Amino acid sequence: MLEESFDELKKQVIDTQLCFFCGLCSAVCSMGCISFKQDGPELDGDCSACGRCLEACPGLGAPLKDLEIQVFGRVKTEAEEKRGLGIYLSDKNLVSSDTEIQKKGYTGGKLTALLAYLLEKKEIDAAIVSHWGSASPYPWVSWPVIADSKMDLIKGAGSKYVFSPNLLALEAVAGNDNIQSVAVVGLGCHMQGLRKLAYLGESDTNLLKKVKYAFGLYCGAPMVSKDDFLAYVSEIHEVPPHEIASVNFKRISKEFDVAFEIGLQNGNTCKKQLHITHLLNIISQYRRWYRCRFCTDYAAEYADISFGGVHITCRTPAGEDVVNRALGDGWLIPSEPNKLLDNMAEGADQSFIRMKKVTNVKRINEYKRNGKPVPCYD
Ligand SMILES: Cc1cc2nc3c(=O)[nH]c(=O)nc-3n(C[C@H](O)[C@H](O)[C@H](O)COP(=O)(O)OP(=O)(O)OC[C@H]3O[C@@H](n4cnc5c(N)ncnc54)[C@H](O)[C@@H]3O)c2cc1C
Repeated sequence: MLEESFDELKKQVIDTQLCFFCGLCSAVCSMGCISFKQDGPELDGDCSACGRCLEACPGLGAPLKDLEIQVFGRVKTEAEEKRGLGIYLSDKNLVSSDTEIQKKGYTGGKLTALLAYLLEKKEIDAAIVSHWGSASPYPWVSWPVIADSKMDLIKGAGSKYVFSPNLLALEAVAGNDNIQSVAVVGLGCHMQGLRKLAYLGESDTNLLKKVKYAFGLYCGAPMVSKDDFLAYVSEIHEVPPHEIASVNFKRISKEFDVAFEIGLQNGNTCKKQLHITHLLNIISQYRRWYRCRFCTDYAAEYADISFGGVHITCRTPAGEDVVNRALGDGWLIPSEPNKLLDNMAEGADQSFIRMKKVTNVKRINEYKRNGKPVPCYD
């Protein structure tokens, strides 16, 4: 153990913007003195300098080769390194067969459908997902929710292009006697945090022993700070930031038209419909979050199953088994063939893989040479 205090976490991770708001530091804190607010972790009590927060923090990086051995029993082959999607057993293009889930999900609701399937089969008691709006103490910050019903799962469906401290909820799950097993949903960074915790020998502790599945999301999006996100929402709707009370965002067509809806302080709502490329153009004018510039993981490589626009990437035997069963039981069905969308997705995959595996790796080396803070993946 490092025997470092919260001050060190603040100095090395929070002040340097290496934090990506996963929430793990708060969950692992032995004194329960790290609270999570809209601006991230804050000291809220007496720190015993046990060092758990700093040691577990995936913002500082993770020993990726060791995690591969831990999760898959081996490291990537040369061909897998080249492909850029991590180690996997199979990759399928499926969607939910439930029309409501399909409509509310971001790309076919396959992830939400699998969670609903696991809940129905009583293989999990709940899932840690992410909600907008009233579930979040901060309206424009997406927040973890322990969903134990189909309705709560559906409320969480859809992609939020902001950070969500999903690992924060591990603590509440550990302390809830009604929950014996969960699936955790998150981005690649959340998955690295989960696996790093197990690597540190924490798999038998309460925090991880109820985690049955790790479901990751592909991520190539330019994440921005909470303030930049608010400024961007304000720009799209032409409403001053201080008048915004809540945010909702969902995909409404196969062609990636998205509906943005905001609630105003005066109780009114304001809607805008845009194409995703238009949104990404606007958001790219804001500064990409410092930590995301060093991310090398596009396809949530350490999950049991990763979910992308046209991918259900089954990585572990347990992950592949549940996808096959949900397919066999009719909860998942093949996606309708769509050449245009498939080509778009393939193009996006290639450019995001290049960004993460080439540009970001070069950037890490360059920043390291210049003495700037970067994550360590050795
Ligand atoms: C920030 C971000 C960037 C993405 N970039 C890409 C990309 O470049 N290429 C690609 O193929 N796919 C990308 N995805 C994944 C894609 O948007 C869909 O999430 C994925 O295809 C699954 O769709 P679905 O309909 O099956 O999921 P749904 O059924 O809609 O379920 C999505 C689940 O993810 C959870 N969730 C949503 N946002 C977050 C978040 N920010 N943090 C933690 N949990 C969250 C939800 O609560 C829900 O449980 C990205 C997703 C996000 C959130």
